[in-house]
Amino acid sequence: MEYLSTRGAAERVSASSAIAHGLAPDGGLYVPDSLPRVDGRELELLRRSGYRERAERIMAPFLPEFTAGEISALCAAAYGDNFDSPLTAPVRFVDSGTGYLELWHGPTSAFKDMALQMLPRLLVSSLKKCGERRGVCILVATSGDTGKAALEGFADVEGARILVFYPQGGVSDVQRLQMVTQRGVNVGVSAVEGNFDDAQAGVKRIFSDADFARVLDGRGWFLSSANSINWGRLLPQIVYYFSAYCDFVNSGRIAMGERLDFCVPTGNFGNILAGWMAREMGLPAGKFICASNENNVLTDFIGTGVYDRRRPFHMTESPSMDILVSSNLERLLYFLSGDAGRVSRWMGELAREGRYDVGAEMLGRIRGAFGAGCCDDARTEREIARVWREHGYLIDTHTAVASGVLADARAKGEQSGPCCVVSTASPYKFCASVLSALGEAADAPGVELIGRLEAATGTKAPAPLAALAGAEERFTGCTAPEGMRDVVDAFLS
Ligand SMILES: *Cc1c(COP(=O)(O)O)cnc(C)c1O
Repeated sequence: MEYLSTRGAAERVSASSAIAHGLAPDGGLYVPDSLPRVDGRELELLRRSGYRERAERIMAPFLPEFTAGEISALCAAAYGDNFDSPLTAPVRFVDSGTGYLELWHGPTSAFKDMALQMLPRLLVSSLKKCGERRGVCILVATSGDTGKAALEGFADVEGARILVFYPQGGVSDVQRLQMVTQRGVNVGVSAVEGNFDDAQAGVKRIFSDADFARVLDGRGWFLSSANSINWGRLLPQIVYYFSAYCDFVNSGRIAMGERLDFCVPTGNFGNILAGWMAREMGLPAGKFICASNENNVLTDFIGTGVYDRRRPFHMTESPSMDILVSSNLERLLYFLSGDAGRVSRWMGELAREGRYDVGAEMLGRIRGAFGAGCCDDARTEREIARVWREHGYLIDTHTAVASGVLADARAKGEQSGPCCVVSTASPYKFCASVLSALGEAADAPGVELIGRLEAATGTKAPAPLAALAGAEERFTGCTAPEGMRDVVDAFLS
């Protein structure tokens, strides 16, 4: 298997090269040139396996230049006792037709861990296979969750260092504490005076500074990123759709081969795309319902075929879905059209005019696999309260967007039959919103709210979040945006 660019103007590359480079040189995203087939016999084997073996079997055909031993070691390191559930990604069933796939049992209590516990080691071995001798330093500008998940993923990974910049005052108490208490000998964290855009612009300036790159090269380092357009972040996400399906079968709620729908809280379109790819590989999935918050550009797109980012940006209680340009949608458009020229034109129109229209025929194909809906913050809070009241099950704001969209679709008769709601964060990551949804007071620093949510619900916070209260703050530095390069310089000297 080799990898192609969605824009069609780059050479075919190996899996390790696609992962080592992230973005294709023509500006496109790498996609596999074919999809491995998972037949009934293979599905039956997966059904009887644990998560780690499911991951090995699904990922191996995508990584031809990795040996079975290498893949097995990668999966063992990624999905071991760093997860606080022996099932890694368990499904919590609330009735005869609904289960929540919990993707937040990793070290940072959010679903980014499913990919970022795997990517760092995959990246370092890909670099070695590509003949890279220098060490890689990952630079991240974060508005919260991704920075912490990347820090945990790269901490103490040999051959790599990671430096994260976050906007001072621009992340929550809990998010800041999660980052500045990060363990590991190869990690660094710095606040930046300014907002997220200032931090991100600073990182982009450093990436495009050729003189600085030469200096670092002389010291045996080069800079890279770990963002969600890297194929190495998408691939591990295909696994849990197969895993959830097998768990639905094992629970007796569906028969093997019966169709199962999925409802996915969506931002960058990475998570839901991985599910659609699983379906293309042979997973008996029905529809994928794309759930958005008030930033509902995807709801409109799936309704009309017009992607239009020219609209107000809303800051919501599900901040990891506050996105107007869903970059992984480009991969779906490529797979469905099979036409890199058209994909390039649409992406060009998006960059120049802020919109593109895929036309009726493409829209028909999209609607054959996807449904869509959206929830505002008030609806999201009502859904948290409803699920708690009816099922005694606590969900976070992102999961509640999906749960609310599913409930609305069922009420309108648009969805019937079994459905898996993809749950992307622990409710303890968003204590203030969850407490307020339950009608409790939420006016205190973040770490205190963790205790309050435990007391109000009788549930337990994930251990790493509970431990934040007394943890030592290792990284207290703050820089002006112009000083970010010096921080990198010192970090790699
Ligand atoms: C990143 C994130 C999402 C959105 O996932 P995409 O792959 O960007 O669609 C949803 N929920 C949470 C908690 C996230 O961190």
